[in-house]
Amino acid sequence: MPQFSDRVERISISGIREVFEAAGEDAINLGLGQPDFPTPEHARQGAVDAVEAGKADAYTGNKGIPELREAIVRKHERDLGLDYDPEQVIATAGGSEALHIALEAHVGPGDEVIIPDPGFVAYDALTKLTGAEPVPVPVRDDLTIDPAAIEDAITEDTAAFVVNSPGNPTGAVSPLSDVKAFARIAEEHDLLCVSDEVYGRIVFDGDHRSPAEFAPEQTVVVDACSKTYSMTGWRLGWVAAAPERVERMLRVHQYVQACASAPAQYAAEAALSGPQAVVTGMVDTFEERRDLVVDGLRDIGLDVPTPEGAFYVMPEVPEGFVDECIDRGVVIVPGEAFGDAGEGYARLSYATATEELEEALSIMEEAYEAVR
Ligand code: PLP
Repeated sequence: MPQFSDRVERISISGIREVFEAAGEDAINLGLGQPDFPTPEHARQGAVDAVEAGKADAYTGNKGIPELREAIVRKHERDLGLDYDPEQVIATAGGSEALHIALEAHVGPGDEVIIPDPGFVAYDALTKLTGAEPVPVPVRDDLTIDPAAIEDAITEDTAAFVVNSPGNPTGAVSPLSDVKAFARIAEEHDLLCVSDEVYGRIVFDGDHRSPAEFAPEQTVVVDACSKTYSMTGWRLGWVAAAPERVERMLRVHQYVQACASAPAQYAAEAALSGPQAVVTGMVDTFEERRDLVVDGLRDIGLDVPTPEGAFYVMPEVPEGFVDECIDRGVVIVPGEAFGDAGEGYARLSYATATEELEEALSIMEEAYEAVR
């Protein structure tokens, strides 16, 4: 048996993959975490033009090309009124690397990191990879992240907490009062707040707000083109933060990634600077599907808070329901894949054509009748 690191032995391959593999080829897949739209034409063209002009052949600067970082700064100014300098931005290999360098640069053995439960699977794993201890804190009954629960979980070892709005797997959007509370907690307890905002543009009710508006020094914003522009394959995200935090994250990024993929950087620059109507159109479609799925699940008899963003819905489900759905050809993900507090829930992604969603709902109704 070869020798492996203790840190790697503490994490495992995400449970979500196993669910996909258990399902047949014709199954309707409501398990996916990516939009079912093509990447906007102007974003693709940005990459094509750069490649054809020979601009994408070499390493870029470690932080990324200036045009992209300027476009990211304009995006944060436009959406949230934030005032970053392009030097405060590092382009990364997706939101995933952004989360990785944010945690790696700030926490390590002996530290605790408070994460939402249920929460995106990477928070637990990436925290463990730093040698720090994840401290999962259950979300409220309406599936929003609870600032009071974060504050209660703080110990002398707490170094950071992660918030995620709109949330995966919940679709929950933190109201402004909670966002302000996250900022206050970070400042009062001198903690890092990692704010994962990759679904920030996909909001139906209310507004997306960021703790960085109220505690800019304490917050690392993690964002990406992946969900907003249906660009998961391009692997392009970023961190934005105070200069001394950026300098530490750059040390990690420089050695694990050197720079984000050059063609992807040009595509992202075009996506962010070009027409935004594609995003609005996609969000309108998601909202229609959200309503269809939430109404359909309630008609079946399932309890489900109305998700206000992202493209997930998380109903409470009876025991055996997830397996019954998968057996009948509808792939959904058991809530416990996202943390212990997810037990008794399931995550459904509605990034799937309306006709498929309608068919899936009728199959789920049969599954519910079979297990309840
Ligand atoms: N953060 C959240 C909440 C996500 O759901 C995901 C992907 O599913 C990511 C980050 C990672 O995104 P990327 O594909 O840009 O690495």
